[in-house]
This record gives sequence, structure tokens and C-alpha cells, in this order.
Amino acid sequence: MITIIGSINMDIAIQTDIFPKQGETVLGNLFTTIPGGKGANQAVAAARLGSNVQMIGAVGQDAFGNELYMNLKNENVHVGGIQKTNNSTGIANILLHNNDNRIIVVPGANFDVDQKMIDDNMELIQQSSLVMLQLEIPVETIDYVLKVCEDLAIPVLLNPAPAANFKNEWIDKVTYLTPNETECEVMFGEDYETVLKQYPNKIIVTLGGEGAAYFDGNQIIKVSGYKTKAVDTTGAGDTFNGAFAHAIIDGKSIEEAVQFANVTASLSVEKFGAQGGMPRIEEVLMRLE
Ligand code: ATP
Repeated sequence: MITIIGSINMDIAIQTDIFPKQGETVLGNLFTTIPGGKGANQAVAAARLGSNVQMIGAVGQDAFGNELYMNLKNENVHVGGIQKTNNSTGIANILLHNNDNRIIVVPGANFDVDQKMIDDNMELIQQSSLVMLQLEIPVETIDYVLKVCEDLAIPVLLNPAPAANFKNEWIDKVTYLTPNETECEVMFGEDYETVLKQYPNKIIVTLGGEGAAYFDGNQIIKVSGYKTKAVDTTGAGDTFNGAFAHAIIDGKSIEEAVQFANVTASLSVEKFGAQGGMPRIEEVLMRLE
């Protein structure tokens, strides 16, 4: 069982020809609501591959909350660990204008994922073969989950996004850390190859279309990405993480898991949307043949 403790958001996207100036009202072209949040995205990615996934998180008692809860349920994610709190459901308000965007995230209920919620779900955590975290819930909760997992000897995969919330003291407590190249530089202030060499078999840096890299103790292993025509890379990182976790739980080596994750993520960039492009296991196996 993979347990994901993280964010559940509704992405609210508006496409417009003009960004409004202060005090101005303009007409937009298109409005869409798309399920997102790194936690929920990674849960869907792993569940579509056939992993047994449970989510611990929070939504509000509003229409978005109900929709996101049902969305995860329909994706075969166990939702018993999702609480409905008095806050509004987390949202990302995305204004799109040509290739430019302006985004406001309101974490809302995601910031209600606290120590008590972890304690309430301790039985679920105890059943886990792997716990997955991102950094869109309070850092105090991350601190607490890492302590709980250390005590229970449960491996942890931490996807350090957004990287600004990362604390260096967490490195020793996690089994896998999966920044992208930019996050790696923000977190360590050094180029990724120098960083990798300090943490054998722990840090996996994703490199966009180039694939991903890690250090096996002797050398840096670069696992090439699967060459494809990318249409929308939103959620590529989340797909990579869900797929990597799936493969590790399946008993694969790091190298095999990274290769599997690269191929899975390559399928996701061929379609629009974060969850929209996440493939099922059959599609991945066909591409791996
Ligand atoms: P995002 O923020 O867009 O979700 P990210 O910045 O977290 O992604 P990336 O390193 O860009 O992470 O991509 C994650 C993985 O997705 C890569 O390791 C690779 O396997 C796959 N990927 C990303 N872009 C491409 C691409 N253009 N072609 C093929 N695979 C890709």
C-alpha cells in the first residue's frame, strides 16, 4: 500500500486575451476547472498503474471538495483518510494569456492537514509500504510524518515541491528525494551532479525530456527520457513520482524504476492536463516492449 499525504486542489483556469489592469474588468475566452494538487495527482498516477493507493488530505465542505473527493474515489484511490474541514477547498487560480500565466494558490483545507489528522489516520500509515510527501501541506506536518515513519521504519519518498519549503534536516530521514533540476539547485545551491554524489541511491533528479539521474555510489547514472512530442508537460513530475513509487513497491531497482517512470511520464506529456494525460499500466507496458 502506498500512502500519499498531501494536497488536493481544484485548478481554476481562465484563458484571456487581456490581463486586467488594476480596477479593470475584462471578458475572458475560456473557463475550466481541473482536479490537481501534487498529492492528488501523484495518487492518481500510481493508482492508474494498478498500485494500491490511499490518500490522507483535506478538502472543504463545498462543491469543489465533493468533486475532488469523488474524482479520487473514481480513480480507485482509497479516500478514507480524506477529511472535510471548515476551510475552503484548496484552489489554484490560473490566468492564461498567450504563453504567459499568473497563478494564485489558496491552500485552504490543505493547511488543515496537521499532526492530529496524522494521528487520526495512524492505522492507515502503519499499513503502508511507502509514504509519499510533497511540500504543499504545512512543514510542521512534514516534520511530524517523517518522525512517525522513522519510528515505524516505513520508507518515505519526498518530492520537494515547492522547493522553497524544503528543510535540509529532512534529507537523512527520507529514503528517496525527487527534485527537478531547478528545485535541486534552489535546495542545495550547487549543480545537481555535485549534489547527487553526496547522496548515493537517494536523490533522483528529473531532467525534463532528458530523463532523470541518480548516483549509484560509483557513478552518476543518467537514464534517458523516452523521446516524444510533448503537448503539455503539466504534471510530468507528478506522473514520474507516482510511477517511480509504483515500480519501487513492485520490487524494481532504482534504475528500473526510473526507466519505468520516464516512460510513464513521456506518455503523460502527450496529452493535455496533469491527470488528463496519466497513462494506465497497459499503455506503459506497450511502450516498454
Ligand atoms: P512539471 O512541473 O512539468 O510537472 P517537473 O519540472 O516536476 O515537471 P520534469 O523534470 O520536467 O519535472 O519532468 C519529469 C519527468 O517527465 C522527466 O524525468 C521525464 O521522464 C518526463 N518528461 C518531462 N518532459 C518530457 C518530454 N518533453 N519528453 C519526454 N519526457 C518528458
